[in-house]
Amino acid sequence: MNIHEYQAKQLFAQFGIPVPKGKDVRTPLGAEKWSTTLDSPVYVVKAQIHAGGRGKAGGVKLTKDRAEVPGLARDLLGKTLVTHQTGPKGRKVRRLLIEEGAAIAKELYLSLLVDRDSGWPVFIASTEGGMEIEEVAATTPEKVLKEPIDPAVGYQSYNGRKLAFGLGLPTLEPAVLNPFISMLGNLYRLFMEKNASLVEINPLVITQDKLLIALDGKVSFDDNGLFKHPDVQAFRDLHEEEPLEIEATNNSLNYVKLEGNIGCMVNGAGLAMATMDIIQYAGGRPANFLDVGGGASAEQVKNAFRILLSDANVKAVLINIFGGILRCDTLATGVVAAARDLNIQVPIVVRMEGTNVELGRKILTDSGFNFTVADDMRDAADKVVRLAVQQ
Ligand code: GDP
Ligand code: MN
Repeated sequence: MNIHEYQAKQLFAQFGIPVPKGKDVRTPLGAEKWSTTLDSPVYVVKAQIHAGGRGKAGGVKLTKDRAEVPGLARDLLGKTLVTHQTGPKGRKVRRLLIEEGAAIAKELYLSLLVDRDSGWPVFIASTEGGMEIEEVAATTPEKVLKEPIDPAVGYQSYNGRKLAFGLGLPTLEPAVLNPFISMLGNLYRLFMEKNASLVEINPLVITQDKLLIALDGKVSFDDNGLFKHPDVQAFRDLHEEEPLEIEATNNSLNYVKLEGNIGCMVNGAGLAMATMDIIQYAGGRPANFLDVGGGASAEQVKNAFRILLSDANVKAVLINIFGGILRCDTLATGVVAAARDLNIQVPIVVRMEGTNVELGRKILTDSGFNFTVADDMRDAADKVVRLAVQQ
């Protein structure tokens, strides 16, 4: 789960990480009221959407004149921002963060995430803050520093010193050396205590007053740890999520919407990934990732179908099931019920193997619907790609 910048900054403050004075507002009037409580040479109005790259897209406005804040708020609220992270549809701005501006001397990059190779949390830091870290990593990889943390030992200040010296902080600004080392400790505490999967501060700034401040904030959480954190759950913003994905979650299905036109219904995440690969290999593009789970009921299969077909891009469906705990006849019953109830118009290709596969196939062929039964995965992919093209 992702949260907004203003929420990330609330968490930062809770964990002793310095942030600018600011507040989230939803109206120009709110922006005006809050700005009068601020006293700063610069005011910042920031669009709150679950995507970075707002600066370049015009979602971060600075002004020296407090009286301009409500006007800037009016311009941004309700606007659809398109950044390199939103996709072409963009995201509607429903909320703003109004902050005291910082006089920036230097922008740094700092994040903490799980390294998939070692399984350890790893700090990533760079002197090239403010810009896209992916670009820095591609063009000047030597400027991206990493410091893995052994979770059995936890963060130690020598980890922070190593990074600080690697960044050249002692010459850049010695006053921020100790604040930097303790900030990393606080970040690590937040990360572990809240089951985060990513904490990113870009930019982490050194101000002209020699203070170290988190000017931006992004936090992602491990969904499997959310049940332990009602405070984090309260941060959830359904406006920022795909409606079909919300519905899938409510039905205990793992569904991720994608851009292609071939709907996939699969049991097991690994098989789902393989199915998406083989569709691409056959020249098609998957419309979604959908894992109905190992022990889905006929009812759940039907729900999965409904969600899958709510996507108007879907021109054909590939059902790829390995019948283990979910038996093939249960699946077939669900598929037939769904085809009947939902008045399915698009062609459906089925590839099934495993428990009760003969019975499953019989239920499909006896149903009166025109299902295409495939021999194996390759055959299924070829058939569904051909059918999608014909639609
Ligand atoms: P993002 O583009 O979505 O990552 O949004 P950021 O919060 O990182 O803001 C983008 C850029 O706006 C930053 O890298 C800064 O250069 C600039 N910016 C944001 N807040 C301030 C501020 O208080 N003072 C100044 N001078 N620049 C700011
Ligand atoms: Mn940023």
